[in-house]
Amino acid sequence: MTVTTQFTQQSPMTAAKASATAVATKEWSIKASPVVGRSKNKIRSVIAGLDLSQTKSDKPLINLGLGDPTVFGLHDPPKVAIEAMQDALIGGNANGYVPGTGLKEACQAVADYHKRWDGVDYAAEDVTLTHGTSHALDMCFSVMASPEHNVLIPRPGFPAYGTLLGNVGCEVREYEVLADREWECDLEAMEQQIDENTAFILITNPSNPCGNNMTPQHLQDIVNIAERHRVPIIADEIYGHMHWSEWPFVPLASLAKSAPVLTLSGLSKRFLLPGWRFGWIALHDSLNVAGAIRNGLHAWGNRFMGPNTLVQKSLGRILSETPDSWYDEVTRKLEYNAQLAYSNLSIIPGLYCTFPTAAMYLLLGVDIKHFPEFPSDVEFCSALVQEQNLFCIPGESFSIANHMRLVLAAPSNVLQDSCERLREFCAKHYVA
Ligand SMILES: *Cc1c(COP(=O)(O)O)cnc(C)c1O
Repeated sequence: MTVTTQFTQQSPMTAAKASATAVATKEWSIKASPVVGRSKNKIRSVIAGLDLSQTKSDKPLINLGLGDPTVFGLHDPPKVAIEAMQDALIGGNANGYVPGTGLKEACQAVADYHKRWDGVDYAAEDVTLTHGTSHALDMCFSVMASPEHNVLIPRPGFPAYGTLLGNVGCEVREYEVLADREWECDLEAMEQQIDENTAFILITNPSNPCGNNMTPQHLQDIVNIAERHRVPIIADEIYGHMHWSEWPFVPLASLAKSAPVLTLSGLSKRFLLPGWRFGWIALHDSLNVAGAIRNGLHAWGNRFMGPNTLVQKSLGRILSETPDSWYDEVTRKLEYNAQLAYSNLSIIPGLYCTFPTAAMYLLLGVDIKHFPEFPSDVEFCSALVQEQNLFCIPGESFSIANHMRLVLAAPSNVLQDSCERLREFCAKHYVA
């Protein structure tokens, strides 16, 4: 069979030429979706205003900004994590796709981990595996909230909440976390902001950036509010069990009798492996009222086909064979650093703070009226880099004025040096 091309009035050559001319006169105008503008990272935008390159100091840079425990090599990751990953890689059976919400054995490993550490019963089906806990947050937000909803998040809080909620289009309401009450939530304000369109209350415990572990009674009060108003809780417990407070770490799910609780955790902080991008959501729903959320998570898990199979295959060993002594060593280092930073910083005129008892941060108050050269914490932190080559993230990034966040996951001598630089800086600029 022969194919003949039918020429109509115009030859293809002429048509191509004509359309080329039309294209040449048209301007490029590629626009990104407006949601991009609503998903700004607040740490990035505040840091963009700091001039990090123009230091006048000959001291080496100390960067206490990044909430990444590997920056200074605080502690080696669990040996079993490295071994399990090597075995998974060499074994050759971790190269394929697995179910979107995770391999059953990996989900079961998460359930067993939370049973052991939190005393909460989950089935493998209650667990959704994610690409880091940020992805877990993003999934929960997409599944639970829409433009007709409002959601409650803490202030000061983890900046990614606002960034990730930006494209959901829901109303974001902030409840205050109070510096003068050792970073407890303002429960009255929290309750007042709830209405029939509230999709969830998000709680971060232990807290980034506050470095506190809430008391069991306070957590019970939060659960009572959620249960009274029939609102689910998202519990960001990425720092779960990383504490040295006098009271225990109490997982929110262990207190909930009726409210569904979505517990978020992962390997980034407690296991010191943020680059492995591995997290999860564990849904606790004792009254079986969260079927819609369960179905939504299942659908969302299948959009991305789960986190990488290598870690999924290693997860059982990582979560069950990491020795208790390893967790203790990490916590002891952080506690030592918290004590060192607190005792050095709390006596500097113009600075104030509460003793951090969890996670890996100290949120330092700057009594800005004693530093009249600086209108806000942003200028304070900027001058600190210029004069002392010490970088900390201004409170503005976490929506709290006149504060700065120090990461405690540095070696003690580096922290000691940082405190000394802060002392020198404050002595120079303090006005009584
Ligand atoms: C670091 C952190 C996370 C998650 O980080 P991933 O690297 O995405 O696992 C989530 N919540 C808080 C409060 C954090 O500090």
